[in-house]
Amino acid sequence: MEEQQRDKDALEEKQAKVKKNLEKLNGMLKELEDLKADLNSQKAQKNEAMKNVKAEQAGISDEKKSLEAEISKLNAKQLEIQGAISTEESRIAEEARKAEEAEKAKATARVHEASNSSGTTSSGTTSSGTKTASKSSSPGKSKVTTTYHKPSAPVGKAPAVSSGMFTRPASGIFTSGFGTRWGAMHNGVDIAAGKGTPIVAAASGTVEVSTFGSPGNWGGYGNVIIINHGNGYKTLYGHMSSRSVGVGTKVSKGQVIGAMGNTGDVVAGKGGDGTHLHFEIFKNGSRVNPAGYINL
Ligand SMILES: [Zn+2]
Repeated sequence: MEEQQRDKDALEEKQAKVKKNLEKLNGMLKELEDLKADLNSQKAQKNEAMKNVKAEQAGISDEKKSLEAEISKLNAKQLEIQGAISTEESRIAEEARKAEEAEKAKATARVHEASNSSGTTSSGTTSSGTKTASKSSSPGKSKVTTTYHKPSAPVGKAPAVSSGMFTRPASGIFTSGFGTRWGAMHNGVDIAAGKGTPIVAAASGTVEVSTFGSPGNWGGYGNVIIINHGNGYKTLYGHMSSRSVGVGTKVSKGQVIGAMGNTGDVVAGKGGDGTHLHFEIFKNGSRVNPAGYINL
């Protein structure tokens, strides 16, 4: 009996242990379920957030698209405006060209009349030694073109410096003189040689003009330099291919100031490209015949 009772006690003890373990396991299971529920809730929140982000991205993408459309519209508008501007610029340039042509024709007519009626080329002669050389608005401003010159002419060397007030400004062939030519006044002399032939200062002085002529400012002369020698004398060098001295530069007689070329209004044709030096001498603001000053 005693043994039976012991077995029963042992069994009950075992059952109690199993029950306790079961309760413990149930507790753990409950915790796991809670944890799982928690995770699911977090996942749901994340999904919600992702949805919002995606919606936001879609919104941004739409906004970007509409901005791009706006930009391309603006670009098209800009092109249209630029087109209108360049059309307007061409129109203005064409008008300026026509006005310049009309002005040239008028100036030519004036020069022709003047040389026919008075036989003199001077206008506004003054004894002032400081008067600046006549600007291109002076009579004969467009008569800087010349006769045909051979492009194959050899490139000359700088001429030997002569004694006297002025030295020859370039080596080459004397092709056109001072005076009425083709019914209009030619304001200087032309010396032709190959393009690039050095041009030298006819006398010492200070560079007063060094520019590429434009309407109202030595138009037609191309690359042009004017040197003030003092005592009322100035010399002008036109149509140069390049200029090597700027305004204010002090130059000495025989110093290279540029190279012979065919810039500005020159007559090219008959196998020539118009390369030559157009040389003028001003005395007290009026042009004088350079042949009286240099050996040609
Ligand atoms: Zn000339």
